[in-house]
Amino acid sequence: MPATWAGWKYSTVDGSGNQTGLVGSNIDITSLAVIRAGNGYGVDGDGDGKADPWNITDAIFSAANYLSKNGLSKNPRKAILHYNKSSQYVQEVLTNYNLFKQADEEAQAALTPNLNPDFSHVGDGSGFVNPLGNAKYVFSSPYGYRIHPVTGIRKLHKGVDLATPIGTPFYAVKEGKIIHAGAINGYGYAVIIDHGNGMTSLYGHIKQGGWVVHVGELVKQGQYLGETGNTGVTSGPHLHFEIGLNGTAVDPEKYFKFR
Ligand SMILES: [Zn+2]
Repeated sequence: MPATWAGWKYSTVDGSGNQTGLVGSNIDITSLAVIRAGNGYGVDGDGDGKADPWNITDAIFSAANYLSKNGLSKNPRKAILHYNKSSQYVQEVLTNYNLFKQADEEAQAALTPNLNPDFSHVGDGSGFVNPLGNAKYVFSSPYGYRIHPVTGIRKLHKGVDLATPIGTPFYAVKEGKIIHAGAINGYGYAVIIDHGNGMTSLYGHIKQGGWVVHVGELVKQGQYLGETGNTGVTSGPHLHFEIGLNGTAVDPEKYFKFR
């Protein structure tokens, strides 16, 4: 086993007197005390009391430890090159790192509730704001008659579908009073707001328990209501958004430019 894990102090010497970088078989390289004494890079990532190079968690933590101790924050290229002296390897690691970082940032951005989103560029002058704020979505189905993607029956689709990952924050399109927060047949879990003058808005297929408002509560325009989901009858995660006028569902696209 290379001495990097347990420490170069344990490295063996070959017949010509050169250090081989290998640790003698009599040394327990998973022992935290041995690693500490040898100034090695092995880390007990999973907290089982051992730093085992064959344990994936321990291996990842140890690689991170190695890189950070070799100046990762100051010069990532140099730190990785120190770990493996191949510029092709360095390039591959940096490429993968950037892909993971980007994916992670996108996932975090989608999943972290923004309690005070900037609606300045999502309002279209209609007096409404987009129920998904600035989050990315795909306009997957308009209001109107359609063959239902799951049941196969032709019926009125009473709202618009905005496809977005489970956990995307959604917001009140206008101020009003919460009149429903919970299950509705077919909609899974849903929140309904009464905006007065016979107008309501409905947010359907939201995450089970994924709402932060309660019936009777007054909400402001743009107020965070909860997280989208995939509950009820759906063909994939999305927010189903409806506007009701005197009890009849009308086309939300008449009120807000979704696409
Ligand atoms: Zn729908």
